[in-house]
Amino acid sequence: MTGRFAPSPTGRMHLGNVFAALISWLSARKEGGKWILRIEDLDPQRSRIGHARLIEDDLAWLGLDWDEGGVDGKGPNGPYCQSMRGEIYKEALEKLQATGLTYPCFCTRADIMATQAPHESDGRVVYAGTCRPSRLGGSFDEATVDRPERAIRLFVPDKDMTFTDKLYGGQTVNLAAHCGDFVLRRADGAWAYQLAVVIDDALMGVTEVVRGSDLLLSSAQQIYLYDLLGYPAPQFAHVPLLCNEKGIRLSKRDSSLSMEELRKEYTPSHLIGQLAYIAGILPEPFPISAQGLLPLFSWSAILPHPAITID
Ligand code: GLU
Repeated sequence: MTGRFAPSPTGRMHLGNVFAALISWLSARKEGGKWILRIEDLDPQRSRIGHARLIEDDLAWLGLDWDEGGVDGKGPNGPYCQSMRGEIYKEALEKLQATGLTYPCFCTRADIMATQAPHESDGRVVYAGTCRPSRLGGSFDEATVDRPERAIRLFVPDKDMTFTDKLYGGQTVNLAAHCGDFVLRRADGAWAYQLAVVIDDALMGVTEVVRGSDLLLSSAQQIYLYDLLGYPAPQFAHVPLLCNEKGIRLSKRDSSLSMEELRKEYTPSHLIGQLAYIAGILPEPFPISAQGLLPLFSWSAILPHPAITID
């Protein structure tokens, strides 16, 4: 059993990030499993090493220890920062290209967002198929193939995919309707979240992916990639999103719930107790350490609410 936490170091963690990290850690540790910290710094404009260091500091403060990974990347499956894994993604892309299911795309607008983790609450883009060739593996117009500024997209089938989430149960997703052919590498060379996350989880031996429920449907895209690349897919377990009083997913802009403020107000055990209460693991929000919570943790205590409001 290997779990992981895969934050994007684009700001200080907020309560929602910590919630997902805590449940992921509890689930892995309860089974005596490993826990990996992977830094998802694919976006050079928004990622900062300073943020990654603060994420590490906040996790350590909470008592959520990791066996592999982090900025300094200890462990056999490194590097653990995605910005340093380009060669690995390139090899995977070549494998996908060899299937004949990829094609160059010259659209500009739609692929900008398409490479970030597509949190449902940010809105979803379904690719219209503008650059899709008329037949799979068909030859492309030489003039366009040689244009360097092309993204690489992957064909998706127009059929229902099914998988079972540990908390939300059976899911059915038609990738053609959900996202359309998706980007693997952007025209400027940036690697897409969907490709990177699959390669990393597969090569790092992750068997359970725990994260916020607005990435639930992305799991179908990821399972499709696992199948094409010949890796077994992990178990997916999404957790309710924490929302502010306006019903909007907590973001790094909700500064009152950022770790900077929370650490001023709470001790680690007070914060863990609150989160365990919100999750349904504790009947009252009493102080408790992450370690102390382990015997009380069970997935069946957590209700599959789509979101939980924090006021
Ligand atoms: N790095 C992604 C994010 O912070 C999370 C990806 C994942 O857990 O699969 O949004």
